[in-house]
Amino acid sequence: VAFNFVYCPSYHGATLLSCLLNNHSQVTALGDTVPAQKFITGGTLCGCGAPIRDCEFWRALLSRVNSAGSSRDGYPLPAYPVIVNPERVNRSLALGIGVASLNVSPQLWKAFRNRAEAYCHIYSAFYRTACELQGTSCFIDGQKNLVKTLVFAGVIGQEQVKVLHLYRDPRAAFYSHVRRKRAAGAKEFARSWRRSHSRAERLGAYLGRNNYSVLKYESFCKDPLAALDQVQALFGLRREELLKPGNAFRRKHIIGNEMIADFDGVIRQDEKWRTGLSKEDQRIIIQETQPLSARLGYL
Ligand SMILES: [Zn+2]
Repeated sequence: VAFNFVYCPSYHGATLLSCLLNNHSQVTALGDTVPAQKFITGGTLCGCGAPIRDCEFWRALLSRVNSAGSSRDGYPLPAYPVIVNPERVNRSLALGIGVASLNVSPQLWKAFRNRAEAYCHIYSAFYRTACELQGTSCFIDGQKNLVKTLVFAGVIGQEQVKVLHLYRDPRAAFYSHVRRKRAAGAKEFARSWRRSHSRAERLGAYLGRNNYSVLKYESFCKDPLAALDQVQALFGLRREELLKPGNAFRRKHIIGNEMIADFDGVIRQDEKWRTGLSKEDQRIIIQETQPLSARLGYL
């Protein structure tokens, strides 16, 4: 069994890709969300149109993987391996070990083997159950959590972990961020972009070329068929026609992002940042994302 992940920061086209991957008859890709308890009880809607708490798919999935109905930090599944209580301390610790495991080796997680294995076990059950309920065979995890991928690589084995790493021009990503009125300024955003991508590249160096593949959002928009071939090859999928209008969000119960719930099958690259973003912000972002953004051809 392979464990499949899509990794990128926010506003890199992961939702669109997840929508297209769900057009594959064998794929379940629930986007980047394991719903928080407050969304479950609060009446947030599933892609199928029902509130999550009434949706048959999510009810069955959550009751099977978390029969006790427990929660950690407001979530039905733990975000990180549980090494200590409380979660605030645990998260800092897990992130610290995560960074250390990038510098040393994902194998570092074997020092916390019991806790790390328990964590992998929970997510394995989540993936397996979601696929069973949807009659599919391949789960693709789009949660933006590099620690999770490192834990799987270290404990389950890096030959069983596959990662698709998405890049996008940091100016375009920042413009999406600004339009959604997020708080971080250009400099902070740019540094976070560079840090996230550098870390994913380091993980990729451990995984090797058969298990790690990179894709630029811009290339995806320019030639989506070639990009989707690349992605299907990475995840060992039989080639299917994925670039078509679809209601995958309804059929596969994806939460959030109503925006593309009715994807019409046409990919449009959004270039509004070129005029919408100030020259000064563009300059700051390019400066703070060097040398990576130059290497990727974003100059
Ligand atoms: Zn649903």
